[in-house]
Amino acid sequence: MSLEDHLKKQIKTTGPITVLDFMTRALYDPQEGYYATKVPMGRTGDYITAPEMTQVFGEVIAGWLIDIWQQAGSPNPFHLIELGPGRGTLMADILRAFKSLMIPLPKVHLVEVSSLLKEQQRATLGPSSTQIFWHTDLSMLPNDQGFCLMIANEFWDALPIQQFVKINQDWIERRIELQDNEFIFMPKESTTIHETCPAISAFVIQIANHLKKHRGTALFLDYGYDQPEAVGDTLQALYHHQKLSPLDKVGQADLTHHVDFHQLKSLFEENTLKVHRPVPQGDFLKAIGFEERTSQLCEHATPEQQSALRTAAVRLTHPTHMGTLFKAMCVSDHALQPMGFGGEGYN
Ligand code: SAH
Repeated sequence: MSLEDHLKKQIKTTGPITVLDFMTRALYDPQEGYYATKVPMGRTGDYITAPEMTQVFGEVIAGWLIDIWQQAGSPNPFHLIELGPGRGTLMADILRAFKSLMIPLPKVHLVEVSSLLKEQQRATLGPSSTQIFWHTDLSMLPNDQGFCLMIANEFWDALPIQQFVKINQDWIERRIELQDNEFIFMPKESTTIHETCPAISAFVIQIANHLKKHRGTALFLDYGYDQPEAVGDTLQALYHHQKLSPLDKVGQADLTHHVDFHQLKSLFEENTLKVHRPVPQGDFLKAIGFEERTSQLCEHATPEQQSALRTAAVRLTHPTHMGTLFKAMCVSDHALQPMGFGGEGYN
């Protein structure tokens, strides 16, 4: 029986299921869920992420991390943790940049749920001159790490959400029901939808505790909004680079939501971390040398490579592409001046 059939049977037997349950099963079902069966990113997958577009992304982030490490007094050994490393491309680019700048290599910790992606990460990172550890969740990170840096690109958007719809004066949790044996939302449409991501709080607590214990700093890049009021329905499905209804191709299409940076920021502050406000990805990347590095690579590149490098730069930094919708946010247990956050302190 397919995941779709399982879910339909469940709805027929016990009634409509919440968006949260639907998304959780579609993404994480151990047999048929998206992460159990697919390699999501890349040309043959469903979407392309920044590190898959250009090596410049990882290289300038390496520079950013090195600056934080130097501000902390260049501790050695130190650890670099990545949440949701995808195919391992970002980490490979970061480690290569560290090596070429003669920076000691950190011990690497990859936090990944998908066995398929763990295999890809092993292949991408190959035999490495540093130790690489895989963890299925954050609680498995070692307790005695010492100074650590953490990075996550497009991690938060993958976590399942609840949706609430305002009907008259009441907020009702949105569910999925069957009509003529097809999934439909219930209520079907609404002008006012509020979303929450319950998994975020648990992750924030774990990350905050880890950073506080080990004197750490984290950089998050993701797409989302930074305002307190509800922005409406942001649940979206991508299948082979095309948008489709989140109710189609259950378990085969990637499901994501726009990250609520306002909430993420508040949660980290409640957990007593210093938060450097979300800044637009375009501004952040430019401030940390994205354009200079792109030009430098173009000098020795073929015309095709130059065109690919320039296209990626526009896609990642231009406001009409990923430059504004995507944001960068930094959290740390200690006071620092991270590059690209304006330098005017915390927010
Ligand atoms: N950072 C990568 C991949 C982004 S896709 C890139 O930029 O290319 C989201 C990643 O998060 C995937 O690696 C996915 O398997 C992982 N992931 C999703 N939910 C997770 C969870 N609950 N815990 C750990 N990893 C998760």
